[in-house]
Amino acid sequence: MNIVGHLINGEIRTDATTTQDVYNPASGEVTKQVALASQATVEEAIATAEAAYPAWRQTPPAKRAKIMFRFKQLLEDNAEKICQLIGEEHGKISHDAMGELTRGIENVEFACYGPEMLKGEHSKNVGPGIDSWNEMQPLGVVAGITPFNFPAMVPLWMYPLAIMCGNTFVLKPSERDPSSTLYIAQLLEEAGLPKGVLNVVNGDKVAVDTLLTDPRIKAVSFVGSTPIAEYVYSTASAHGKRCQALGGAKNHAIVMPDADMDNAVAALTGAAFGSSGERCMALSVAVCVGDAAADALVDKMTNAMQDLKVGAYTDASNDFGPLITEAHRNKVSGYIDSAEQQGATIVVDGRNPEVAGYPNGFYVGGTLIDNVKPGMTCYEEEIFGPVLLVLRVDSMEEAMQLINDHEYGNGTCIFTRDGEAARYFADNILVGMVGINIPLPVPVAYHSFGGWKRSLFGCLSAYGPDGVRFYTNRKTITQRWPSSGVRESVQFSFPSN
Ligand code: NAD
Repeated sequence: MNIVGHLINGEIRTDATTTQDVYNPASGEVTKQVALASQATVEEAIATAEAAYPAWRQTPPAKRAKIMFRFKQLLEDNAEKICQLIGEEHGKISHDAMGELTRGIENVEFACYGPEMLKGEHSKNVGPGIDSWNEMQPLGVVAGITPFNFPAMVPLWMYPLAIMCGNTFVLKPSERDPSSTLYIAQLLEEAGLPKGVLNVVNGDKVAVDTLLTDPRIKAVSFVGSTPIAEYVYSTASAHGKRCQALGGAKNHAIVMPDADMDNAVAALTGAAFGSSGERCMALSVAVCVGDAAADALVDKMTNAMQDLKVGAYTDASNDFGPLITEAHRNKVSGYIDSAEQQGATIVVDGRNPEVAGYPNGFYVGGTLIDNVKPGMTCYEEEIFGPVLLVLRVDSMEEAMQLINDHEYGNGTCIFTRDGEAARYFADNILVGMVGINIPLPVPVAYHSFGGWKRSLFGCLSAYGPDGVRFYTNRKTITQRWPSSGVRESVQFSFPSN
């Protein structure tokens, strides 16, 4: 059976202490194996990245940018193949995979601005005859650890920018859908990246722990679930590394009584069920202000959900595909069971959907649950499935309080026609990414992506301007060239101009 290997120093390697099954979640079949790197293999990847660093650090940014321009072109030329690899292992339908890839390519485009972003700032005459400037210097070898749900996009949030800034990189992608990530890394080498600048190691906790503790790794970018994000952040920090660790989410939408209900329902349908709800920005909770708004939403949503098509990635007319594993499918179904047991109303039940031709796929259909209350398991925890919860409250303040009290603070949205309410919401809500009649307010590549509270550990968000700051060390240089023959007197007071 085909083994998905590592990319170390430009070579695909399949050495592994163990391997793990890779599934086609649409059919439930094992289609490949993935090599799980040993500590020694990860250390070799780190050594390779360290050896490549001195020359890459000195490579002019404009030359690095030329490689990124070619990389962008190769990503576009090979988009169909990339989307197919995503579909085979993640289960995403091609239109959704293309959306993911397009947002990933935006980050490559942003990295092409490297020479502009890295040029620093200069001040002449900060004192008599003294000039000062700052440089953005690379850190050295940096690592990225990424989740299964965006195997193309999330790695592209990290290494194009890190590499553009002059770092070398070791990437540890999700072992559940590794092929598109590996293929994309090979395209960057085809674009002209010197061997060893980007290395990919597939693996599990052994690989992650090696990256978190090895002193040659200077910084770690992580994206995944909150318990692992917290572990990664605390372990990397304890080992003296810079770390940004993005975690899970529970994204609420407030539906105000004055909302354009048809548009709100259309937006919520895509944002709750797209990609089977396996998005950290999925809208998974609708908080309706007043029973009239809740009744209208549930009624219209129930109608809209009659048309939802769940199925295999091979049929582009499907709206969304299966969940990533059987265990995750069972977990999502378990949350629906718990909601029922704890007194919520299952309005549309997606448990055990019939998907013709795919009896063993990991499917859950779109599910709508009304009368959910704080304290219920389905409300407190991240479900990460195609499940939309409806909560009913009496006021906008009550809705905002729910959101502000929740442990996660990744994304949120308000549906309203009232500008004053929207402005108040955006100003006071304790969430990092806010939409106003925008269900998935994922920042574009030239902004930065990050949640608040337990959705992000660390003080810098991913990609964009924060990404440049994360992947560089600021150095400020102050210089004077005294005229020859001029004698300078000793000064004991603190220098000032
Ligand atoms: P995960 O936390 O299980 O895995 C993420 C990475 O951590 C993988 O590379 C995995 O191999 C590694 N890992 C898993 N268990 C580990 C352990 N015990 N020790 C060390 N490393 C470990 O996450 P996932 O299931 O792949 O992805 C889904 C999660 O990611 C969801 O919670 C989702 O909200 C979150 N996510 C967040 C963002 C964001 O930007 N905030 C984006 C995408 C996904």
